[in-house]
Formats: sequence, structure tokens, C-alpha cells
Amino acid sequence: MPHMRPTLSKGFLLPEFVRSSTAPARLPTFHTCVGANEELLTPQWYEEHVVSVDVGHKTLSTASGETIHYQTLIIATGAQVLKLEEFRVSGSEAGNICYLRDLADANRLVNVIRSCTSGSAVVIGGGYLAMECAASLVSNKMDVTMVFPEAHCSEYLRFFTEHGFFEKIRITGTCYVVVPRLFTPKIATYYEDYYQSRGVKFIRGTIPSSFEFDSNGKVTAVNLRDGNRIPADMVVVGIGIGPNTSLFNGQFTMEKGGIKVNGKFQTSDSSVYAVGDVAVFPIDLYGRIHRLEHVDSARKSAKHAIAAILEPDKTGQFEYLPLFYSKAFAFFWRFYGDNAGEAVHFGDYSGTTFGAYWINNGRLVGSFLEGGTEQEFEAIANATRIKPAVDDPADVGRQGSSFALNVSEKTKPQTPRIEGETCSLVLEPTVYAWHATAGVVLAASVSAFAYWYGRRRRRW
Ligand SMILES: Cc1cc2nc3c(=O)[nH]c(=O)nc-3n(C[C@H](O)[C@H](O)[C@H](O)COP(=O)(O)OP(=O)(O)OC[C@H]3O[C@@H](n4cnc5c(N)ncnc54)[C@H](O)[C@@H]3O)c2cc1C
Repeated sequence: MPHMRPTLSKGFLLPEFVRSSTAPARLPTFHTCVGANEELLTPQWYEEHVVSVDVGHKTLSTASGETIHYQTLIIATGAQVLKLEEFRVSGSEAGNICYLRDLADANRLVNVIRSCTSGSAVVIGGGYLAMECAASLVSNKMDVTMVFPEAHCSEYLRFFTEHGFFEKIRITGTCYVVVPRLFTPKIATYYEDYYQSRGVKFIRGTIPSSFEFDSNGKVTAVNLRDGNRIPADMVVVGIGIGPNTSLFNGQFTMEKGGIKVNGKFQTSDSSVYAVGDVAVFPIDLYGRIHRLEHVDSARKSAKHAIAAILEPDKTGQFEYLPLFYSKAFAFFWRFYGDNAGEAVHFGDYSGTTFGAYWINNGRLVGSFLEGGTEQEFEAIANATRIKPAVDDPADVGRQGSSFALNVSEKTKPQTPRIEGETCSLVLEPTVYAWHATAGVVLAASVSAFAYWYGRRRRRW
């Protein structure tokens, strides 16, 4: 079933739904572009998988043995979680070790939380997903310890790089690269202090070396490389993802662990496009090609690829302002642009609204804002897109969000909203609005696009 992944680490794990077996959270059903004329595709439809691709003959083969011919193919196969085994730690199969990528993982996580009420949870990883999971576990009255190799949460994965882990990692033949994270130590410290006030313990600068198990194969403790041992009733692993490229190995140019595309999302084979988490595309602001793992880029890349296919003459190069966001406890932040250059902090770091600008080569290239108004979020997006010259970074820091508001007001460009951010998570019996995104809707639809055309129109 297509579903909103961001919801799975947020609203889906709220205690009222985790505790209730009679009114569990459930995701809304929704139409995708393949469901024409109000047709809702069945779960079985989505279980049909492509098992091989022959680009030379322009065919796909499905698990049921069907061969589908295409004229144009869009690859939107997304990503899969990185398993601990990639770091030479075994045990991922244990009943109380959880990963989180899809609805089945989320349902399993809920069941594991239920099975160890008020127990100890170890969260491995320090990225935004791990932070969201830790917040959800605390809200479910678990005793939470986070373990990550960096000095701070959501910081650059320096430890892994220095120790050479990432250089050697291979899943299905694809080499992974380190993804830089965006919190500065000051921003990270703010969130860590709050998490600690809610009871979360942090163990930094190390990673698990092994697990201890009981006679039922359940983890009872996590042993760390620094010699520490943490008793655990459950473990949640959020150490990153790797793009699903194995079907396409050797058929297209790959780079940075993903499928390399041009500014119209065309791969090295002009009849094949790649979008979403799997695509490595040119980002002007970065001045390089890059792979992103966020719904906004998944949705917009899919939209642009469709336009490039349907109206090639009217569609130019993709001009994208990267947007990342996250939500945990009552926090909600957005980041636009690039975190290159000097970071200038602004706002009230003892309060609830603060941020940072990144100034590179005398220009604003990135903006982070926690707790802003919709107008402020739009302003930092506009200002980052404009890349105004900054002569005095300290002054920009003193102005804070007023700087972005002024720049934005003077130029008044159009900032599209993050479509779908107000999509609903349908809850029974009441309906609440949750923070979620529709990006996945479109991206998931697109992964089925070639399949649908293949079934209905054997030739394009
Ligand atoms: C728990 C969680 C929370 C998140 N929170 C946020 C957030 O707060 N903000 C944010 O910006 N991003 C968030 N993300 C990231 C975001 O969900 C992804 O960036 C987005 O889903 C990527 O979309 P995609 O379509 O490229 O890939 P996916 O969503 O991974 O979709 C790929 C689809 O392809 C299908 N597929 C794969 N292989 C095959 C095959 N061989 N045959 C047929 N189908 C196949 C898969 O089953 C899947 O349906 C979150 C992700 C998770 C897991």
C-alpha cells in the first residue's frame, strides 16, 4: 500500500495509538496517478515487484513472470535501510531489534514497544530519524539511550569517515558515501539538552560492537566499542539508508551510490529517468551533483521528470532549493539550501525560536529555522533562493529572521508551499491533521508509472 513515510516516525508512534489496540493509528488510503477514474489500487497490486530490467530490450520482468515493454521508464525505487551487519555487527534478525522504513516496520515497532512497557530502549544512530524515534519512545514512557559515533546528534559522520567504515561498505554492489548532516554543535546542543531534560541519555563517539541475547534470541544488552554495556529491552536502529539500485547495476552510469541523472532526470540512457531517493542530480546551489533523501525533493523531482517527458520542449533544467524538515516533541524545523561556509546563529537559544544562516563566499547559501511562523519559513526560503550578498555576517545574525523577511519583502519571489505538509493521518475513530507529506504519494505513484503503462498500453 502506498503510504506517507514521514508519519511513521511521528504521529504513528504517539502513545495514544501505541497503547490502544482498539483504535490504532492507520494511514489514509489515497489515489495515485495510476488509479484513474477514482480507482483505488489494491494492496496486491503494490506487492507485484519488478525483478529484472533489460534496458537494451526495453523490458521489465515482474515476480509473477510477466514481461512489460516500455518506451519510457521512470525509476523511483527509493531506498532501503542500512543494516547493522554492514558495520560487522550481527543480530538484526532478533525479535526486538527494529528498523523503520515502511508500514510493516512501523507496525512491528509498535508491537515491540507494547511488549516492553516502561522498559529500556537503545536507539542506534544520531540522525533526524533516530531523533524522532527517540522522542516517540520517551513519549511512550521508555527509558531511552541514544548511541552514535559523532560528537553531537545530526552532525557530520566524522567518526565513520575517519575509521574508514563507509569506504568499504557495499550493498548489492553499490558503494555508499557519507551524507553530511546539518546541525551545528550549537543547534545540536539545544536539542540534546531538551532530550536530556526528558530523560534521554546520550552516549557519543562510539558504535555497537555486539549484542547479548537471551535463550529466545531477544537482545538483552548492547555492547559498545568503547567498552560500555547498555541493558536493553528493545533496540531501534536508524543508521541511514542506501538507494535501491541493484536492478540497474551495469545498465546506467552510477555515482555517489545512486543513479546519475541530468537536470531533466534522464539517466545515461535517454529513455530512462530516475527520481527521488535513488537519483543523483545536479543542484546548482551546491555546484555539484547530489543525492537527497527527503520527500520534498522526491516529489519535485518526480513532477519535473513527468514534465520533461510530456513536454520536453517546454521543460528546462531542474532548479531546486533543497528543503529538509523534521518534527519531534513540539519541535519543528526546516532547513533550506546548503550548509557550506560560516554558520551564523540567530534568535533565542534559551527559548523556542532560533536559527542559523550559512554564508559562503560572501553570500547567504543556507538557512535553518526552528519554531518559526509560516511567514518566516517562507522568508528564509526566498532569501536562500535569492542568495543575497552578505558583507557583515555578524549583522545578519543580529537581524535574525528580520534579515530574511526584508530580503524576501524587497524581491517578492513566489515560494511554492511544501505541498502535502498538512496531509492527514486518518485515525479511528477521530480524524486529526498530522504533519506528513504528499511527496511520497507522488513518488510512490511514479515507481508504478512504467508498470501501469506497460499493462495498459503495451507500446507507447
Ligand atoms: C520513518 C521515516 C520518516 C521520514 N521522515 C521524513 C521527514 O520528516 N522529512 C523528509 O523530508 N523526509 C522524511 N523521510 C524520507 C522520505 O520518506 C523519503 O525521502 C521518500 O519516501 C523518498 O521517496 P521515493 O519515492 O524516492 O522512495 P520510497 O518512498 O522509498 O518509495 C520507493 C517505492 O519503490 C518500491 N520499489 C522498490 N523496489 C521495487 C521493485 N523492484 N519493484 C517495484 N517497486 C519497487 C518500494 O516498494 C516503494 O514503494 C522519512 C522516511 C522514513 C522512512
